[in-house]
Amino acid sequence: MNLKEIYSGHKTVISFEIFPPDTEIEKLYSELDLLNIYKPALISLTYGAAGKNRGLSIEILEHIKTQLNTEVMPHFSCICNSKTMIEESLLKFKKLGIENILALRGDIPNEKILCVKDFKYANELVEFIRQKTNLSIAVAGYPEGHIESPSLDADINNLKRKIDAGGSVIYTQLFFDNEKFYRYVDLVRRKGISVPIIPGVMPIISIKQIEKMTKLAKIEIPKILEKNIEKYKDSPDDIKKFGIEYGIEQCIDLVENKVKGLHFYTLNKSKATTEILENIKEKL
Ligand code: FAD
Repeated sequence: MNLKEIYSGHKTVISFEIFPPDTEIEKLYSELDLLNIYKPALISLTYGAAGKNRGLSIEILEHIKTQLNTEVMPHFSCICNSKTMIEESLLKFKKLGIENILALRGDIPNEKILCVKDFKYANELVEFIRQKTNLSIAVAGYPEGHIESPSLDADINNLKRKIDAGGSVIYTQLFFDNEKFYRYVDLVRRKGISVPIIPGVMPIISIKQIEKMTKLAKIEIPKILEKNIEKYKDSPDDIKKFGIEYGIEQCIDLVENKVKGLHFYTLNKSKATTEILENIKEKL
């Protein structure tokens, strides 16, 4: 099923993001079995920035498609990737019967490495994939602005380039304040972009995880979250419990505001995501 078909209904569609693990593929597969009980419309698989675990990615995509009978969406970034390398990967996806792809630029590597520069921005990759394949293409959006962007408005103008090039769904960066997401949707719509905007939700499972995420991207921590992080800083169990409660409230509010989907950043762990889903399933 392609992205357009997946998001054509009135119900809120569930999807999950996972990443290729360094070790313990069987552990990932057992977590996937637990996640798959909630019948996701698709499972997306991240793309290692420096070519990490690329062989493994194909194996995981195949596992999800054939063993779990669930739609997959590989992420794919163009930074440091040549046109030839990209065409080879697209061919592998075609052989697997993959219908959807999340087209990204990828983060600019910190170290000075020799890097092919066939593509500068994600909109160029979207254009390339559209010309070469009939894959349904998703792109990334940033409710609080991309970290390199001078302003949210400039970033949304660049988002429009990706949609004009052929992007048909936007998956957002995670956020903890739904008001930021609603403001973003409003601004994006005002630019004439009408494709589905799917919020990225990351259940809070530890303080370390929040600190890492907010350091890497522009993500504001709301006061209520800050207060509870402080309160539970010495109790990992309490922060997990609070994270699930926060996630349930966040998702219920999103569903009540008629989002087309919820895309969970699972971090390859099923527990927090499935507990949230168990508590919101009647609302979906
Ligand atoms: P772009 O859309 O190209 O934007 C990058 C920056 O350049 C932005 O600041 C934008 O405003 C600006 N820009 C864009 N086009 C132009 C232009 N034509 N002229 C001037 N400025 C421009 N990273 C991975 O490595 N692997 C993953 O699997 C992965 N998955 C992700 C999934 C989601 C849902 C999200 C939100 C992000 C993901 N990322 C992933 C991170 C992403 O690769 C980084 O955020 C990266 O820095 C930007 O990628 P992009 O596709 O958004 O780039």
